[in-house]
Amino acid sequence: MTIFSKIIAREIPADIVYEDDHVLAFRDINPQAPLHLLIIPKQEIPTINDIEEQHEVLIGKLFTAAARIAKAEGIAEDGYRVVMNCNQHGGQTVYHVHLHMLGGKPMGWPPY
Ligand code: C5P
Repeated sequence: MTIFSKIIAREIPADIVYEDDHVLAFRDINPQAPLHLLIIPKQEIPTINDIEEQHEVLIGKLFTAAARIAKAEGIAEDGYRVVMNCNQHGGQTVYHVHLHMLGGKPMGWPPY
């Protein structure tokens, strides 16, 4: 169980911006852009490496939520970045898959 499961269970606070039966989104506690949200499945999947066929619909819902949230947050037209980090080299620190949504300014590339 990770800290994100505790956020889903409302055991620790988070600034939640979107929720449905399968997905939760909240503001990152340590924002790296003017807008930095995390979009997570309620089902705990540790890393991208653990995604299987049975999760395909659920993972798709993360992106459907991303599109809705981007419009609601007013960043859809200017654009934004979504990132999913995996394991150590990817910079993952919480082992419950999550999409980072970063926006509100132009993003650099490459991301290091
Ligand atoms: O991709 P990575 O696993 O490193 O991302 C984890 C993210 O979770 C970090 O950006 C961190 O700031 C965020 N976090 C949070 N609220 C917590 C714990 C971590 O927003 N309570």
